[in-house]
Amino acid sequence: MSAGPPTYSIRTFGCQMNEHDSERMAGMLEAGGYTRSQDPEDASVLVFNTCCIRENADSRLYGNLGHAKRIKDERPGMRIVVGGCLAQKDRHAIQRRAPWVDVVLGTHNLASLPRLLEESQRGAAFEILEQTEVFPSALPARRSSPWHAWVSISIGCNNACTFCIVPAVRGKEVSRRGHEIVEEVESLVADGVVEITLLGQNVNSYGRDLGGTPLFAELLRALDKVDGLERIRFTSPHPKDFRADTVAAMAECNSVCEHIHLPLQAGSDRVLKVMKRAYTRARYLDKARMVRAAIPGVAITTDIIVGFPGETEDDFDATLEVVREVRYDAAYTFQYSPRPGTVAAGLPGHLPKAVVQRRYDRLTELQEEISLEQNQATVGRTHEVLVEGPSKKDPSKLTGRTRTNKLVHFHGDEPDFSDGSLCDVAVDRAHPHFLEGHLARGGTRSRRVSLPVVGAARGCAPGA
Ligand code: SF4
Repeated sequence: MSAGPPTYSIRTFGCQMNEHDSERMAGMLEAGGYTRSQDPEDASVLVFNTCCIRENADSRLYGNLGHAKRIKDERPGMRIVVGGCLAQKDRHAIQRRAPWVDVVLGTHNLASLPRLLEESQRGAAFEILEQTEVFPSALPARRSSPWHAWVSISIGCNNACTFCIVPAVRGKEVSRRGHEIVEEVESLVADGVVEITLLGQNVNSYGRDLGGTPLFAELLRALDKVDGLERIRFTSPHPKDFRADTVAAMAECNSVCEHIHLPLQAGSDRVLKVMKRAYTRARYLDKARMVRAAIPGVAITTDIIVGFPGETEDDFDATLEVVREVRYDAAYTFQYSPRPGTVAAGLPGHLPKAVVQRRYDRLTELQEEISLEQNQATVGRTHEVLVEGPSKKDPSKLTGRTRTNKLVHFHGDEPDFSDGSLCDVAVDRAHPHFLEGHLARGGTRSRRVSLPVVGAARGCAPGA
């Protein structure tokens, strides 16, 4: 281990919730004097923030832990931490299969990381709680972006979707007090954040455990009043709880982006019932129509599982029909595979891989066509784009996102736009997964916010 302050490295698996938790772990470590290691192999503390949603998550984790053991054999002072959903679910297995791990903590006790690391000096420190001690957003953070922040508004989930392990590892839903969320967002904006993403397993049921004050729609309205906050996004709403009051708040609030992610999962009522999704195809379609009617130009995206146990060709056709009717801007499509610990894993009627693959190919082909058509409808129009930085594929271009969450690569006359700037971009070409464009002449916005950007960045000059 190198001399100097102790260092850390965090490897994050899974969803935005885990990314948010990793930012908090990094924040706590930095508050305790650690600095981020450039090379994970040199870190004093190596953290794996795990996910158990994906297939083979455990074999990937044990592969990584095996590699970490080889580093630790050479540097015995190094400590290995396993956190996140898989740790919450499989603490005993980790103890048994990887006894060289120093700290295991679950999804409910992120705040205990510094204490557990301290305790691990005297022997392995494993602690899994069944209820959350402190909301992750109340902990210090080391954000990966100066202009975007994740803000958790609730944790846990009261639903029981039969394919999902989340309720088992994240517990019952608990909402965070509205004033704490507003205060956090105010301080984020004062720190240069212009876009937030509100996080919850089911944001639309936010506040019910607080006696209904505030509910999600009121929370959106309260956050819309935060001066300097340009964009509010949220994920994920459950279609059964997505109601007219939220749609009205989305339509009213200038900072709430014109994008909704509405997970469909399946288009057949029979499959939706076995999944325990608590809505029918007709109710889902009503909600999609409601949002399109209230918010002009809104983008709708979704999640779809193909090949759920017992899915017939007719069931699958019903999914394709919903896709044709809603005309999603994008869809995250998944081939069903059983997750240990879920109800669906024990259902009869698991389908052969070849059948699932054929259906999956048909679905993705259809969705690609629709995504392209939806994106082509933006050609010739000008969109407000939040600059994320140089394009990874072509650094001579900039990359950003529209309010509808479409990725845009564009040529800007200014070589040094700062990340987090807002610009108007005219769209020239459309592809299924991104747009291409150029900075709109006469429509360029001045940068509306003052950002703590490192380096000499000029931002979007008025009229450039
Ligand atoms: S709503 Fe369903 S899919 Fe979403 S986290 Fe809860 S149980 Fe899982």
